[in-house]
Amino acid sequence: MVDILDLVSQNAHTIGTGLRHTNSALDIVGKLKTLARKSKATPDPELESLVTSLANEVADAKLANLALKEQLIELKEAILNADNAQSKLGRYELCETPGGYTVYRLKEAHTNEEPLHYACPYCYADGRISILQGGLDFKQCFVCKTEPHFFFKPKRGPITFV
Ligand SMILES: [Zn+2]
Repeated sequence: MVDILDLVSQNAHTIGTGLRHTNSALDIVGKLKTLARKSKATPDPELESLVTSLANEVADAKLANLALKEQLIELKEAILNADNAQSKLGRYELCETPGGYTVYRLKEAHTNEEPLHYACPYCYADGRISILQGGLDFKQCFVCKTEPHFFFKPKRGPITFV
């Protein structure tokens, strides 16, 4: 991800440079128009038409550069958000409860930062952490409610009749 951020940052600089160039080009077009009017008593309509077309093209390029810059900023924010979400998800590991359910558990390395808890596997798959709530026998996810109960109580063996 760091490489992508570097790439995005480099492109932002390039677009900023492009905006400065289009501003310079617009200044030049303005000067050309002034010169065209000064150089002849009757302005050349073909020259004025070309200068006007050039001014329109430069203005379009400037708008396109601004749109690209906005998209680049949005992309950069999305990458940062994805990095943050990924680092949150990376704090958990899959485990199987004694009741036979697969859930996510806070890695032991992070239990000094917050108490041990379990996270819903369905919410995790959607990129978010939802802490399972409940007692020792079972826990629930109150966010997605996909699974009514994640059993933590050990499975019973088969019933045997004497
Ligand atoms: Zn859930």
